[in-house]
Formats: sequence, structure tokens, C-alpha cells
Amino acid sequence: MVAALYGTPLAIPIGMVIATTVIAACAVVTGDMTFAMLSAVMGGIGAFRLGAQVFYLQKHLSISTVVLERLAYAGAWTTALTMGSFGAYTVAFHSDDRIVTLAVGQTIGYIAGIAGRNSSRPFVSNIQVTLAALPFAGALIMSQIPAFVVIAGALLMTVVLTISSSNVIHSVFVSNFRKTRDLQIIATTDSITTLLNRRGFIDEVEKRLLSGQRTYLLSVDVDDFKTVNDTLGHDVGDELLSMIAIRISSVLGPGDKAARIGGDEFMIVSDRSGEDVAALAASIVRSFTDPVCVAKATLSISVSVGLANATGESVERSLKHCDLALYKAKSEGKNRWLSYVPELSEAYDNKIALERDLAKAIVENQLELHYQPIYSPRGRTIIMCEALMRWKHPARGMISPVEFIPLAEQNGFIKNLGSYAIEQALRDATNWPQPVGVSVNISAKQFHRDHDLVGIVEDALRRTGIAPHRVTLEVTETTLAEDKELVIATLNRIRVLGVKIALDDFGTGYSSLSHLAELPIDMLKIDRGFVSSIATSSKARSLLRAIAGLAGELNVAMVVEGVETPEQFEAVTRFEPYGIQGFLFARPMPKEAIDLIIDRRVALPAIDRPSTGVFKQGRSSAA
Ligand code: C2E
Ligand code: MG
Ligand code: MG
Repeated sequence: MVAALYGTPLAIPIGMVIATTVIAACAVVTGDMTFAMLSAVMGGIGAFRLGAQVFYLQKHLSISTVVLERLAYAGAWTTALTMGSFGAYTVAFHSDDRIVTLAVGQTIGYIAGIAGRNSSRPFVSNIQVTLAALPFAGALIMSQIPAFVVIAGALLMTVVLTISSSNVIHSVFVSNFRKTRDLQIIATTDSITTLLNRRGFIDEVEKRLLSGQRTYLLSVDVDDFKTVNDTLGHDVGDELLSMIAIRISSVLGPGDKAARIGGDEFMIVSDRSGEDVAALAASIVRSFTDPVCVAKATLSISVSVGLANATGESVERSLKHCDLALYKAKSEGKNRWLSYVPELSEAYDNKIALERDLAKAIVENQLELHYQPIYSPRGRTIIMCEALMRWKHPARGMISPVEFIPLAEQNGFIKNLGSYAIEQALRDATNWPQPVGVSVNISAKQFHRDHDLVGIVEDALRRTGIAPHRVTLEVTETTLAEDKELVIATLNRIRVLGVKIALDDFGTGYSSLSHLAELPIDMLKIDRGFVSSIATSSKARSLLRAIAGLAGELNVAMVVEGVETPEQFEAVTRFEPYGIQGFLFARPMPKEAIDLIIDRRVALPAIDRPSTGVFKQGRSSAA
């Protein structure tokens, strides 16, 4: 109401000046002291209302809107009463046409003018017109002059119309206001959790940052939410999200506000101190120690939290900082919180730069394949060579695949990289003598509905003319985490081509014997982590014996990776693996070097060491 009333700053001063002047003019013309008094009262009220308006316009926050509203009521009603009294007094006690015309004109004009104003509080304008009209109409009727009685009738009808029209205007105004407010609530609220949504959250953060308030952002992400959503269905997923929202809300304080900004990602904005906000981050993580009960299940879940100080920052930058801290918390093992530090941005910028360079690397032929031979322990000959990718970065030198393959997997380059590796490895292998095979590593991300891996292998076979049985593709168990059915179907189709499949890095991470049964494989590559303990640990030896037995049962060839010492070699050969690969014999080397080794059919000097008895003995017979 105050906004509507004081929003047109000239209306009140002009109205009050006119009213005061008209009454003062009557006083001058007639010399009547009552007019002088009424004029003084009107002037006083005018000054008071003007003062209130100035306070409002200068945003003197010390005066609340409620007080300003009360002042506005008082000003409006006293003005109305003074105006009505002026009209009534003139009609009752004066007969000079000039004075009466002035009074009737002024009073009616005033009443008519109120109709359009103050509609945000109809009772104010209703009381206003009533206070002005009743004494005036009463005096008009009592004068018994027919014209005045007609005017009084018209005036009373005006009052009735004004009251009803201001009620209508008010209800239209209020419903529009509510509609706008409801729309705003819908637009800024998350329907599943009733927390703020992304837009509402950004608005809130922007508001806090603009006011210069201390502001921290926390990013909360449910660990492995996708698995829950996929295995239990989306209804349970939604229910779980509401339960998570309740858990998070339960540890919030008055200056904290939570939002779900998409998927399973929640955010909190907080005005706590650095120490308190760290405690908040810790208590959010801790609040998930107890399992969460949803309709169909009791679920043990955990969350990771990223924390960043947003004070004095832009919203975008602080959101990014928060995300970087969250990713770090995830990569350090989840179920924890981490605070943003500038090094995270550096690492991120590095990653972006490397990513940009990787796009160029393919085009500019900076990638090449090196080969590491895999030997037969019995024949001591090279059975096959594993193609291992290398990146000769023009500025950074040689970059390990451990660094750039995960990057390529994240941004999708792996499909190009992988296709290049398949074609190039098969081509290089055509130079080698018939029995020597080649194996190529395949990333889990190369199994995708819109990526024709089988077609790529088929094309490479056709273009290079290599016999399919010489080719092996190495996959790891992580491949099964993607789309199990698709992976198995693809592997089966590849085997139909005559190409072999090896399960790489067996014995690391989440190795499961069931994968051996599920995956259509021809070869099992035992990870070097396993081999490193083989010479010293009897437990490791027992395990390897069991795996070797299983591989034999399943008719799967066993290759042992990472054999570095003669002791390991000796321990490993007891289980009669199909192949052995490791630095003891040869490191990965460029194509030209491997061509030479294969040609001469010689192993590298390392195996000439005295303790590699088995191998030495074999070598003389192979030579
Ligand atoms: P991987 O497929 O298990 O390859 C064996 C890795 O172990 C190679 O590392 C090799 O150099 C190393 N290695 C071999 N013998 C020994 C040993 O005796 N001791 C030690 N300490 N290490 C040994 P590299 O070349 O750095 O490759 C690392 C991984 O990068 C590979 O592991 C593979 O997963 C991935 N990778 C390499 N090239 C490609 C590729 O073209 N495509 C895909 N998708 N992944 C690739
Ligand atoms: Mg491999
Ligand atoms: Mg491996």
C-alpha cells in the first residue's frame, strides 16, 4: 500500500497544496476564522504526509513498512475528515455563491479522486470517502436547496460505487499478486524434495553475495546414486532423494539454505564462519552413517561434499570451486568432505590444457604404439606382442597412457584413439612372422551402442589382411560395469570373426570369479600386483595355483604380467602359464626395435642372469 500511495511522489503535495489554498482563499474572501483554522489544519496534515513520504522515498530503513503504513492511514483519514468538514461547514453557514462553488467543487473532486487510489487496502479508501462524503452530504441535504439535495444523492451513489469498485480492483490486484508469487515459488522450488531448485539457489546465492554477506557453498553428491536408481527404479530413486533432503535439512542451521540442483546433486549456501561451515560439512557426511529406509528397501548410502568460500567471488567461479572440491573428495574415495584449495584449479587447468592437446595429438600423429613381447615359458619364443600407446607431447615429452587414457575416456576421444590403435597394431603385426600375434587394449568406453566396435575390428582385419587368429583384444572387468549385455554380445561377435579376447588385469580391484564364467574369453592376464608377492607369499602362490587350475578347466590360456625378477619368473613358471610378460624380458619398445627382436628371435639380456635357470636352459635349445 505504501508503495502504491507514495509511488507517485507529486500527488500528495499537489493535492494538499490545492486543498489548503482553496480553504485559505475562503478565509480571505469571507474573513471567517473557522476557514483559517481548517486551512491551518489541512496545511499541517499536508506537511506531516509530505514528511512521511520523504522518509519512505529516502528508504530510511529505521522506519518499518508497518509504521509507514499506519502514518499513511492517519494522513489519509484526517485529510478526508477535514475536507468533509470544510464542505459541510461552507454549505451550512455560507451563502456566497463563489465560496459555495469552491467548497462543493473541491469536496466532490476530492472524493472522486480517491476511487483510483489506495486500492491495495480498500478499507482505507472506503473509510476515506465515507469520512469526507457523510458530513458534506448531510449538510447538503439539511440545506433543503433542491440542487444541493440532488448533488447529495449523486455523492452518496458515488460513495457506494467507489467502495464497490475499490473492492473489485483490490481482489484483482491480490489475485494477480498471489499468482505471480505462486509462479515464482514453483519456478524456484524442486518438486521432489521441496528444497530450492537450481534457479532458486542461484538467486539466493546472488542475493547473499550482493549484500556482501559471508557466504560458503557446499556441494553434496550421493555416492553411486546411479546404481541405486538403476537397480531399484526411479520411484525409489525419487523417494530416496526426499529422504536425503530430510537428512541434509536436519543438520542445517538458521543461516543455511539447501537446494537440489539436479539429479542427485544437492547444494547448501551458508553464512557460518570457516570453522563452523567445516563442522557442517562433516556433519552432513556423518548424517548418512545410519542407513536410509525407503518403501521397498533399507539402503546404505554415503555422500561426498565439496566446500568453497564464495565471499567476494562470482557465483560461477564459486560453483566451479565447489565442484572441484567435490570431485577431489570423490576421487579420494568418496564418503568424505573436502575444502577447495587453489591447487585444485591448477590441476583442472592442466587437465583442460592436456585435453586440448590430446585433440591435436591424434591429428598431428603424436600418438604411437610401442610393443611389449609376451614369451612362451616353454618355447621361450615370442608368442605375441601387446600394443601399448605412447604420447610424444611436443612440450611435455613422453606422457604415460595411465595419464591420458582416462582423460580420453572422460571426453570420448577414446573411440578415435582406440580405433587408431586397432588399425595400427594390426598393420604393424603384418610385418611379423606368422605365429607371432598382437594384442590391443580396448577401453570399456569403446563398448557403446553408437560405436560399431565390431565393424572397426572387421575393417582393420580386411584392410591389413592379417589372419584373425593372430589378433587378441584385451578388456578389463570394468567393462562389465557399463552395459553387460551389450559387452557380452559385442565380444561374442568379435570372437565369431576369429579374434581372441583376453581379460586384462585379473586380480585387481573388484575381480570376481563370476566374470570368468560370464565373459566369453580365451585368455586371462594375471595382474602384476599379484605377481609382485608371488615369490614371497605362499598365500599368493595358493591363489595363483587355484586360478591356474580354473583357467585350465575353463580352457582359457593364462598369461602372467609384470614379471620383474628371476625369482618371480621361477615361481610363476611352476603353474605352467601360456605366456609371460614383464620387464625381466623386455620393456615396451618402438615398432622398429620389436621388429628386430622378433626377427632375431632373441630375448633381451636380462634373462641371461644365472638364476633364471629355466629360461637359460631353454634358450640354448631355442637358439
Ligand atoms: P596394461 O594393459 O595392463 O599394460 C601393461 C602395463 O604394464 C604397461 O604399462 C606395461 O609397460 C607395464 N608393464 C609390463 N611389464 C611390467 C613389469 O614387469 N613391471 C612393471 N612395473 N610394469 C610392467 P603402460 O604401457 O604404461 O600402460 C598402462 C596401461 O594403459 C595399460 O595397462 C592399459 O590399461 C592402458 N593402455 C595402454 N595402451 C592402451 C591403448 O592403446 N588403449 C587402451 N584402452 N588402454 C591402453
Ligand atoms: Mg593390457
Ligand atoms: Mg594388464
